[in-house]
Amino acid sequence: MLQPGLMMNLPLLLSSVIEHAAAQYGEVEVVSRETHGPLFRYTYAQCAARARKLANALSGLGLVAGDAVGSIAWNNHRHLEAYYAVSGSGMVMHTCNPRLQAQQLIYIINHAEDRVILFDATFAPLVKGIAAHCPNVRAWVCLADAGNTPTIDGVANVLSYDELVEPCSEVFAWPQFDENTAAALCYTSGTTGNPKGAMYSHRAIVLNAMSGCMPGLLSLSPSDAILPVVPMFHINAWCIPYAAPIGGTKLVLPGPKLDGQSIYELMESEGVTISAGVPTIWQGLLAYMEQHGLRFSTMRRTGVGGSAMPQALIAKFMDVYGVDVRHGWGMTETTAIGTMGILPPQSKTWTSEKKQALLAKQGRSAFGVEIKVVNEAGDTLPRDGSSQGELMVRGHWIIASYYKGEKSPLIDGWFPTGDIATIAPDGTMQIRDRTKDVIKTGGEWISSIDLESAAVGHPGVAMAAVIGVKHPKWDERPLLFIVRKPGATLEKEEILKFLETKVAKWWVPDDVVFLESLPVGGTGKVQKGDLRKQYGGVFS
Ligand code: ADP
Repeated sequence: MLQPGLMMNLPLLLSSVIEHAAAQYGEVEVVSRETHGPLFRYTYAQCAARARKLANALSGLGLVAGDAVGSIAWNNHRHLEAYYAVSGSGMVMHTCNPRLQAQQLIYIINHAEDRVILFDATFAPLVKGIAAHCPNVRAWVCLADAGNTPTIDGVANVLSYDELVEPCSEVFAWPQFDENTAAALCYTSGTTGNPKGAMYSHRAIVLNAMSGCMPGLLSLSPSDAILPVVPMFHINAWCIPYAAPIGGTKLVLPGPKLDGQSIYELMESEGVTISAGVPTIWQGLLAYMEQHGLRFSTMRRTGVGGSAMPQALIAKFMDVYGVDVRHGWGMTETTAIGTMGILPPQSKTWTSEKKQALLAKQGRSAFGVEIKVVNEAGDTLPRDGSSQGELMVRGHWIIASYYKGEKSPLIDGWFPTGDIATIAPDGTMQIRDRTKDVIKTGGEWISSIDLESAAVGHPGVAMAAVIGVKHPKWDERPLLFIVRKPGATLEKEEILKFLETKVAKWWVPDDVVFLESLPVGGTGKVQKGDLRKQYGGVFS
């Protein structure tokens, strides 16, 4: 007969995360770029006190457990306080992506039934445009002091966060409830149809955040300082705002300034040892450093994900700047990190190229997440590193159903990701493409990610994107878009010749279009849909 375990059964709640940091790492700093420019700094103890004040303020506004509070905000300390105050009170922290179209923002705010919206002054024009269409919102709270809170024509009830919070008591008894209660909500970008809501539970976030601290993932400890460039408005900034307080790690929040110079200066002035962001952010940072001949003094490793990190960029980080790259994969539906690549001990004898080739893959799944790839019939494919199929995931922080969704997205208990992947015998997963981006040519598949990664390896290429274009004979053929590096004179023949040395001959794109920039969406990813609309005609 099974025996009961005799340990305490305390719920995994987010309030306990910030109170842990306040009690054990009360002196550890949180540094935050104010939206109007200057740096603000305080400690986890002060952050927890302000979170309790905000919890009192929200209750003063008449909000109760189960209500939703939206945010349209940068990574800053007030947003962090809200992460804890809202979820800790049993309410739902709904982070909105300010780069969504106004119509989509209105849709998600109404769908989530947000009662209050916290916004940064940057987004005042956006608030002006949407407020009239969000009848459930009873207050629009600007994350600023009174002096930096704008009046917004036509919007009643615009409050200053500091004015709202400061008079409140810093004593608040966090309610205790089931760890499966909803804590936070984030919508997918809705590239097809309306955005869909992923509702994260306290349990999922705490488990993911604890996992993120582990050495094989981000490795957060009290001797580190982390700067999440990944936005708090999308996929919980990979749960770093929850993981750092668990790890006792100094947290550096960059506010609205995400250009190479600002990020570099903040890393240097705050002794940042770890960062995390999408590849486009790192391209900007390294371009700035190269241009000015700069080096890092404290940075040791960086987490990348959100889209594939080209091998050439990994090489630059590791060989030129001595920074370890951790390449991870995740999506809105997976709370944060699902898989992460890290070098094994035997890699000490490997060439740099072999190490970087491994890190260009998306790594092994974290404990708590299982992965498999399946063919169109749903059969599990072998872990041989070459059988490609749809990546399926399940685990403690993987979505079970969408918020107010009618139909379960799961297939036999697994979530279909829409990504095409391979899994090697050692468990290393590689994303080959998204199902909608893969190029089907003559019955075979070409990975747009692999082609892009190869193109970015040319020294004259700043950014690259590949789409499939209809072809009368081959079904689809690849079309390559290139943004040249400043001063580069690269032409079509040269890049195609270069690619012939890197990929199979039948993969070489049929044509190249040079652009000034690529269309980048709300989460820093290239919008291939836009490219398809404009260039996806027919090759002759
Ligand atoms: P969207 O891109 O639609 O806004 P998400 O932000 O949830 O949705 O992004 C999740 C998707 O991003 C994944 O399904 C995958 O296609 C892509 N992705 C995430 N990390 C990586 C990575 N390291 N390499 C390649 N693709 C990635």
